[in-house]
Amino acid sequence: MQNPLMLMIPGPTPVPESVLLASARPPISHRSSEFRTLMAEITAHLKWLHQTQNDVLILASSGTGAMEAGIINFLSPGDRVLVGCNGKFGDRWADVCDQFGLETEQIKAPWGQPLDPEVFRHHLEADQHRQIKAVVLTHSETSTGVLNDLEAIIYHIKAHGQALSIVDAVTSLGVCPVPMDEWGLDVVVSASQKGYRMPPGLGFVAVSSRAWHAYTTAQFPRFYLDLGKCRQDAVANTTPFTPPVNLFFALQASLRMMKAEGFTRLFSHQQGLMQATRAALRALELPLLVTDDAIASPAVTAIIPDRVDPELLRSQLQQQHGVVIAAGQDQMRGKLIRIGHLGYVCDRDILTTIAALETTLIHLGCPCLPGIGIQAASNHFAKLPSSS
Ligand code: PMP
Repeated sequence: MQNPLMLMIPGPTPVPESVLLASARPPISHRSSEFRTLMAEITAHLKWLHQTQNDVLILASSGTGAMEAGIINFLSPGDRVLVGCNGKFGDRWADVCDQFGLETEQIKAPWGQPLDPEVFRHHLEADQHRQIKAVVLTHSETSTGVLNDLEAIIYHIKAHGQALSIVDAVTSLGVCPVPMDEWGLDVVVSASQKGYRMPPGLGFVAVSSRAWHAYTTAQFPRFYLDLGKCRQDAVANTTPFTPPVNLFFALQASLRMMKAEGFTRLFSHQQGLMQATRAALRALELPLLVTDDAIASPAVTAIIPDRVDPELLRSQLQQQHGVVIAAGQDQMRGKLIRIGHLGYVCDRDILTTIAALETTLIHLGCPCLPGIGIQAASNHFAKLPSSS
């Protein structure tokens, strides 16, 4: 059997064998008591992951489907919304909002820079008649590896008093804290192929009571993505339409695993992977797009290689070593590479990736001291408490 490629991209991520095996069984009826028991456990664990007492609803969709559901269930045509744009996924929010005829105002920051909470404050304070209906933004911007200061921005949204917060936590949930209730988030969307350590196929939308209140007057047509229907059925531990039951088995297994690990270990593990990766890349003198560690996403690190063609580096890594890393997107296409370190990734995966990167750099004629990246990463791991 051919060895599978090693996925070091920001989703789909590596998936534990136990999670894959959990899904490898005959499907069950979604109208059976066995399914209802499964759904009850999953729902309780999803609430744990979101740190919330609110509803967390499951869709058979990718993350973008969950984003669309997060808009059409709570807003109406012509509503005024602020959209944070500092990368591809902030731009995607703006596209979704534009497509549905919302009146969007973009709050921008250059790619690689974080959104400025003060600019949100300024816009929200200036809205004296409280016409802004929602602030829509991305927590971990996967296209650049920036972690936006969600908590600070939410503070200003709450001070406004009217606007809902609609948040893409697609590459932050399960990777770093997203305490929905403590921060007072209204709508939180995520997807299975990221921090959940699962294959692609499920989208999630967590909804606050304020957002449910907005749902009652929201005017967009909706059918498959009607979260009210999902909520009604979720109360009885079922779903309005046929769910991908085998993915639900996988979700049950992955959430059990995450819960057993607990937040402290889960998040410190992700931090450790990010820090070791960044230490190695710095030692290799590969320029980081996000230079400030305080705003670096624990999900993905972007590099702008200045001595070698990024696409050549990426293709050589895959061809010679079977390590798959991601390319730049949109305006960064051909300019950067991205290493994903979320999901079921361990220290060994980082060390392997860095070793392959070093070897490829040398092969492509980029001078670098053999072993210098590995040394930096392993020094970092050696300092961390053992995760066993
Ligand atoms: N938001 C973010 C932050 C993402 O990283 C992604 C996927 N890379 C999406 C949204 C879209 O998710 P999907 O491709 O599952 O539709």
